[in-house]
Amino acid sequence: PTDIPTVPAVVGARLSVPLVTGDRVTYANLDHAASAPCLEQVRDAVDELLPWYASVHRGAGFASQVSTKVYEQARDTLRRFVGARSSDTVVFTRNTTDSLNLLAKSLPRRTSVVLFDTEHHAALLPWRGPNVRRVQTPESPAAAVPALEAALKLCPEGPRLVVVTGASNVTGELWPVADLAAVARRYGARIALDAAQLAPHRPVDIKALDVDYVALSGHKLYAPYGAGALIGRADWLQAAEPYLVGGGATKNVVDWGDHLGVAWSAVPERHEAGSPNVVGVHALAAACDTITRHGWDRIVAHEQALLTRLREGLRTIPGLHELSIFHGDHDRVGVVSFTIHGHEAGLIAAALSAEYGIGVRDGAFCAHVATRRLLDRVDATEQRALRASLGLGSTVEHVDRLVAALRTLVTEGPKWTYAQQDGRWVP
Ligand code: PMP
Repeated sequence: PTDIPTVPAVVGARLSVPLVTGDRVTYANLDHAASAPCLEQVRDAVDELLPWYASVHRGAGFASQVSTKVYEQARDTLRRFVGARSSDTVVFTRNTTDSLNLLAKSLPRRTSVVLFDTEHHAALLPWRGPNVRRVQTPESPAAAVPALEAALKLCPEGPRLVVVTGASNVTGELWPVADLAAVARRYGARIALDAAQLAPHRPVDIKALDVDYVALSGHKLYAPYGAGALIGRADWLQAAEPYLVGGGATKNVVDWGDHLGVAWSAVPERHEAGSPNVVGVHALAAACDTITRHGWDRIVAHEQALLTRLREGLRTIPGLHELSIFHGDHDRVGVVSFTIHGHEAGLIAAALSAEYGIGVRDGAFCAHVATRRLLDRVDATEQRALRASLGLGSTVEHVDRLVAALRTLVTEGPKWTYAQQDGRWVP
């Protein structure tokens, strides 16, 4: 079709992969939700920096000056990318998991935490204990608002934090973040947005959403691994002990004989001890810049056109059930999880890879509670689902290949026989 906008190109778009027959086909990467392929502009930006990277904030040499500048420019880029307030801090982390753990370690004592029970483990597990309230999955995005309000009413006086996912990594469904933030405000709570799946697919604007923190990962945003960010209010992070201790997090260390006197740095350096990942954050910033320059309208239109085609195709597969958190059809990013009655997800995923060169994910997607609950609803016989996820590397051919391959696998079965090895199916 000619009505699907072109989008920034990813590295490896024409990579060929071996099939079990010995033939090769171009790889159909339908696993963007796990990690997205790198953009060509990101690779070029990294290439340019590689000869120059050196110690950030510490060295006087030219390369150190270049790296320090690149690192701090990346902070500004991230700030712009999420529309941060001027008072917000941008702490570079390894990924969303790291960002949310940092926030969890920085909460004032006895902060009440409220979250929905469908969260990804990265947002579900850092807060545990008596001060945490898990809200049952609501039936619709609109029903999430009163459900959150009811939970906030039960919170004792004191600091409160709501944690919410922007887009589910299981179903792609969007949560009504601005409405949830408005409720949080009314009850004096802060709100942290897990934007791991939202930021690669939709614009995130801290001020427009009125959220306090945003956590995201570079590797889901078309940059390689190792860099993420926590962006938001500085005060709790400033009052907290450094997340890691070591060089970079300190202004001064004095030997008082029986103990060391340490003056910790202010945020963001306070939580960035050790030599930082300057190449990683440069890559992340290059990805943000490329997306912003290209424009969200075209990126969203590309993905939504492919998503519609994918979902329509999946509906024609006998026995296939798409998973949804909410009842009815609601706005979602390009992530679709499904089961196929009578077919084991792991085996289908293995056959898609071995016989068709298609990469999907199978399992419970680091969101065990959510995935199992959704599987129970469709009366699945197993604890695993399949997930196809779209992004800038996706094409009409990838989508059509998946739908055709699933139809053949379901109606005729795999062409090869598969055996289980270390919990995975191999031909
Ligand atoms: N939250 C969501 C919604 C995610 O999809 C993921 C990654 N699957 C994470 C958090 C964690 O991201 P990372 O593994 O990059 O820390």
